[in-house]
Amino acid sequence: MEYKAIKELPTKAGELVTIRGWLHRVRRQGKLIFFIIRDYSGYVQAVAKPSIGKAKFVIAEQLTRETAIIATGLVKEDKRAPYLGLEIQIKSIQPALNIASPELEQEIRPDSGPQVYLDKRHLVLRGERASDIMRFRDLTTRGFRKFFFERDFVEVTPSTIVQTQVEGGSTLFGFKYFEQDAYLTQSSQLYLETLLSSLGNVFCILPSFRAEKSRTRRHLTEYTHIEAEMPWFDFEDLLNFMEDMIIQVFTSVYNHPLRIQLNPDLQLPTKPFERVSYERAIELLKEYGIKGENGAFLEYGDDITEGPERTLVDTIGKPTYLTYFPTGMKPFYMKVNETNPEVMNAADLLLPGVGEIIGSSQREDNLEVLLERMKEENLSPEPYYWYIDQRKYGSVTHSGFGLGLERFVQAMLNLDHIREACLYPRLINRATP
Ligand code: ATP
Ligand code: MN
Repeated sequence: MEYKAIKELPTKAGELVTIRGWLHRVRRQGKLIFFIIRDYSGYVQAVAKPSIGKAKFVIAEQLTRETAIIATGLVKEDKRAPYLGLEIQIKSIQPALNIASPELEQEIRPDSGPQVYLDKRHLVLRGERASDIMRFRDLTTRGFRKFFFERDFVEVTPSTIVQTQVEGGSTLFGFKYFEQDAYLTQSSQLYLETLLSSLGNVFCILPSFRAEKSRTRRHLTEYTHIEAEMPWFDFEDLLNFMEDMIIQVFTSVYNHPLRIQLNPDLQLPTKPFERVSYERAIELLKEYGIKGENGAFLEYGDDITEGPERTLVDTIGKPTYLTYFPTGMKPFYMKVNETNPEVMNAADLLLPGVGEIIGSSQREDNLEVLLERMKEENLSPEPYYWYIDQRKYGSVTHSGFGLGLERFVQAMLNLDHIREACLYPRLINRATP
């Protein structure tokens, strides 16, 4: 038996076809039964009439929503039909295996709260919006890979089981690795840096784990981290490169029907992005009247937390690099500026709607400065011997970044919460399903 994909049907008007899929919706109207059938490639309306014969019609009448079915029918153009402007006039329709339980109707109801939606995420993913977002996310991931491969990057997969920290101890997930202490990785950056001298430009798309103890709309405890490291890149090269990447990835999905449907208002960013130093940002926050979470204005040296950061970029209204953070505010591996050691060659890229989507910097290439910075952060160099060796054997100017894929999708689609951009979100108190 040859099965047609639903996306092929627009070229099959007048033909008898057989398709297989799931009953997305079922509706009786007088003597007719209307189905919306769903497969991997789309949705189509089908109608069963009593004239197909009593035995066949009785089977059609028993079919419930989400039953997996096989249907044969005539493709007929009908401008009024949803999705494709065509309809399948059913000759026969039957369950592939069995009829879906009618309990489904009780699983999620219009008044179900967010916890029910999260508990039933496996069913929610059958819905149009949730599955469209997953498809959009796939398109976006392809956009990134294409960008990297066009520039001779090598994709690698460092281990996610580690014995070093990258982002500070407070968000580490620790566990016993046989007799030893180990962590789930917070970032693969340090490992990527070990490859620069042999593979050149490298990237990875892997989970990172952060034990985030506060609830926000942009933090998961496991997220997909797109990280890249580039030898010979100074800070300016890095900022240019990330601009090109963001613009290319935006452009790669911009004309796709899914983008137009999910966020018709998306603006294509243009070069150059806004650049605001940390010092200037503290001034701007005051000028714009944006206060911190405790109701007071932020002062030089304070962390620009999520709330003020987002309001700032929303006010600026376009992608913005927040640059030159005070030394010590950012991790030990970020490069201290050579003319002004008070600041680091680091930049966060902020997008309106979400705030930070990239953390980036030129990396510290000087062995002495690196060891000094580690001491300031109370990090013992011992477990980092393999990282420190990079500065002993052929150190070069280099830079890199980490981008949160879910956050990026959240920003592109203007989603209220990052969990919508994630297949099975891991959140504070939730690791199921
Ligand atoms: P934030 O200040 O929002 O917590 P961060 O400074 O901890 O971010 P980095 O350590 O620079 O973030 O990580 C690089 C990128 O990874 C971030 O720009 C963001 O896109 C993403 N990211 C970081 N933490 C999370 C998280 N808990 N959930 C989802 N994405 C995250
Ligand atoms: Mn964080």
